[in-house]
Amino acid sequence: MGRMMALAARNLGFKIAVLDPTPNSPCGQIADIEITAPFNDVEALQRLAMISDVLTFEFENINADALDQLTGNSYIPQGTDILRITQDRVLEKQAIEKSGVNVAPYEVITSFEDLYQAIDKLGYPSVLKTARGGYDGKGQLVIRDKGDLAKGSELLSHGVCVLESFIPFQKEISVIVTRKLDGSIRVFPVAENIHVNNILHQSIVPARINENTQIHAIGLVVQLAESLQVVGTLTVEMFLLDQDDILVNELAPRPHNSGHFSIEACETSQFEQHIRAVCNWPLGHTELHSSAVMVNVLGQHLEPVIKALGNEPDWKVHIYGKHEAKKDRKMGHITVLGEHPMEILEMLNQSNIWTEQTGDKKEKVDMK
Ligand code: AMP
Repeated sequence: MGRMMALAARNLGFKIAVLDPTPNSPCGQIADIEITAPFNDVEALQRLAMISDVLTFEFENINADALDQLTGNSYIPQGTDILRITQDRVLEKQAIEKSGVNVAPYEVITSFEDLYQAIDKLGYPSVLKTARGGYDGKGQLVIRDKGDLAKGSELLSHGVCVLESFIPFQKEISVIVTRKLDGSIRVFPVAENIHVNNILHQSIVPARINENTQIHAIGLVVQLAESLQVVGTLTVEMFLLDQDDILVNELAPRPHNSGHFSIEACETSQFEQHIRAVCNWPLGHTELHSSAVMVNVLGQHLEPVIKALGNEPDWKVHIYGKHEAKKDRKMGHITVLGEHPMEILEMLNQSNIWTEQTGDKKEKVDMK
């Protein structure tokens, strides 16, 4: 994410300094200055602040208190409140509700007792999630029946959790919104997201939903960005229910995997738009030039994708420069453009890469 953001900033003429715990990180490889230190290293953050006119982040789990100590020396347009909110599912759900937007029914769980009482209210199945630190389904447990309750103690040992009703959604969608300090706002087209094993597999754009639902989703996202006084980027992940009702699942205060399609498919990419917002430049237009499907390249897909490239002139390939291709690690993505999402999905279906890697039919492109 940082690499793609930095590449966009570089195109606009900025110089890049990055702080990352990993030496020669994907972003570090293309930055002018690389500081290798933990995200909460105040001394290193101070060094970054001293050499930077604008500080931005593309990862919500950084230490907001450490950043607050820098505000005298540095300009962090996104602020740190949004970090505190999106680091904690309880604060996040409260903020979403305060903005007048719905979330799945939930209860805050601080003890095993709470879990028993909450499951009585919410029923089976429900999803137990750690309030802090989870991603890509990590720190989550679906509780299908009484027998699963005991497994909750592992998650509870990490601290406060939330129990959510399991939502039988028809689709998962996301919308990325960018807002400036002066209140100007631009929204990217709605993406339809297919997750496999809780990891984003594909984003299909435009989402295969009716126009009213698109307008509804975009309206909710603008409402959230305004209520949270967002500066920079906010990504909103949502569940679309059968009657076209929408519940918000999660927020991210940054560009998002489900917005990578915008690099090739939109007038302005999510990364350029973010840089424009935090540098107080006018926001670009976000019109979609063509339909697009983005597919993630996980560790197990990297080699076959690289082998296939010679025969796939239409694949727009992004490899992130991570050192080790571990299973399920996001190593890159491809985007394919076309007239209509269904055509692109059919084209992608001809590649067996994703099916062969998992041996799992489910991971083949979704034709719903
Ligand atoms: P999260 O980390 O909250 O984004 O969850 C990862 C994925 O798990 C989501 O994209 C959904 O596919 C699934 N999921 C999360 N919460 C729920 C829920 N309450 N009901 C049904 N599926 C869920």
